[in-house]
Amino acid sequence: MSNGSSLLAELIEALRCLPGVGGKSAQRMAFHLLERERERGLKLAAVLEQAIQRIGHCSQCRNFSEESLCSLCASSSRDRQVLCVVESPTDLAAIEQATGYRGQYFVLMGRLSPLDGLGPEELGLAQLTERLGVGEIEELIIATNPTVEGEATAHYLAQLARAGGVRPTRLAHGVPLGGELEYVDRGTLAHAFGSRQLLD
Ligand SMILES: [Zn+2]
Repeated sequence: MSNGSSLLAELIEALRCLPGVGGKSAQRMAFHLLERERERGLKLAAVLEQAIQRIGHCSQCRNFSEESLCSLCASSSRDRQVLCVVESPTDLAAIEQATGYRGQYFVLMGRLSPLDGLGPEELGLAQLTERLGVGEIEELIIATNPTVEGEATAHYLAQLARAGGVRPTRLAHGVPLGGELEYVDRGTLAHAFGSRQLLD
């Protein structure tokens, strides 16, 4: 095999690290870059290298950040009495974009999953416990996903909150707005039914 074709194979293999990219898509991307996007491909390579070297985690909320304290944690306009726990930076972004939430966050970077080797230590729960113990936080909003592991994590977090004298709350999961009961899946309907709230 010539040097050129092995480099091409290496590029295709490297592109497969992206989520949802299989062999065929990776090949299409590699050809696309080489055929018509060489300049922007170089830019991509340079930015990628910089980002991976310089973006770390915020020392307070664990979200991705170039600084040791991210802009959300450093902001003086965020409410420090409410802390919202999410599984991932994607979930944080979704809440920021969809709600008017003005409190702070804690990003687990996963969920309790013993089979994947994710325990309290990997999720930074000692750090969270310490923060809950300072006495500034009044409410812990638990926004982990409504999956089996997300629910188990929520249960664990609620115990941590209570132990620290903080009120734990959980996002309501249920029937989508505009939805009809007969089209909602059984798990969602059961959850919505179980977490019904008093009308006032
Ligand atoms: Zn932060």
